[in-house]
Amino acid sequence: MGRESPPIVIAHRGASGYLPEHTLAAKAMAHAQGAEFLEQDIVLTKDNIPVVLHDIHLDTTTDVARFFPERKRTDGHYYTLDFTVAELKQLRVTERFNAKTSEAVYPNRFPVGGAPFQISTLEEELKFIQGLNKSSGRVAGIYPEIKQPAWHRKQGHDISSIVISILRRCGYVTREDPCWLQCFEFEEVKRLRTELDWQGRLLLLGDEFLLPKGLTKVAKFADGIGPPISSVISGTNPADRRVTDLVKNAHAIDLMVHPYTLRVDELPGVARSVDDLLSLLFTEAGVDGLFTDFPDVVVKWLEQSDE
Ligand code: CA
Repeated sequence: MGRESPPIVIAHRGASGYLPEHTLAAKAMAHAQGAEFLEQDIVLTKDNIPVVLHDIHLDTTTDVARFFPERKRTDGHYYTLDFTVAELKQLRVTERFNAKTSEAVYPNRFPVGGAPFQISTLEEELKFIQGLNKSSGRVAGIYPEIKQPAWHRKQGHDISSIVISILRRCGYVTREDPCWLQCFEFEEVKRLRTELDWQGRLLLLGDEFLLPKGLTKVAKFADGIGPPISSVISGTNPADRRVTDLVKNAHAIDLMVHPYTLRVDELPGVARSVDDLLSLLFTEAGVDGLFTDFPDVVVKWLEQSDE
């Protein structure tokens, strides 16, 4: 009951293990690697255009500090919401770095500042993916995440309404369409399903509603949950690890489970190896999909395990 078969590979911010997150290059690579879904994190600009960025700040994935040094707020951050799309298009997107030390967060990945990448609007990215679907003959779905809707509304912007109007305009309307909409905020997931009448697939992220009582609440509005891997496999090392009841409990009420995030360069302590972790997640726990920075690794593992 409630199982996706076979499980799906979700390219977390694209093939972000190989190219800077949320660049079109990272999405093209993930598409070519065979990911079933490509993720978009979404924040709004000053002129209410949804753009594909993970943070409400621009500090750690762009050269904003060099371009607009005077535009930071008093808290020291540069907010996407303070810039127009035209301004954001002047920035270069880079591999994620630490704003204090300027060092790469993942030292073995693509070099910081290594190539002239740009910020994309949500609509640009969806058209890009649809173009790849056409030219490759293989449809990859989209997996948009509405970032911090409560914060956006406090700032006077209703990000969810804007995002779903673009999704609908681009052909993502019902559960049959290749789209999962995701959010960390339960109240917004509820609002998307009720007040905003979102008819497509919907997933709640995070670890707040994972006890059976919480799952029942979530199942009223959502089709799935996106918990951290640690909620599916508990423990700190291979000796004390345990598959929790989460997937079983979720499947019992028809909720899919798509945990985050598999990174081959940052494995959790419970894993002996990448293959070991994939086997725990897919074979032992029975998850329906997985967010990963390395779609090729998971695609290959699933192909081999299917033989
Ligand atoms: Ca995300």
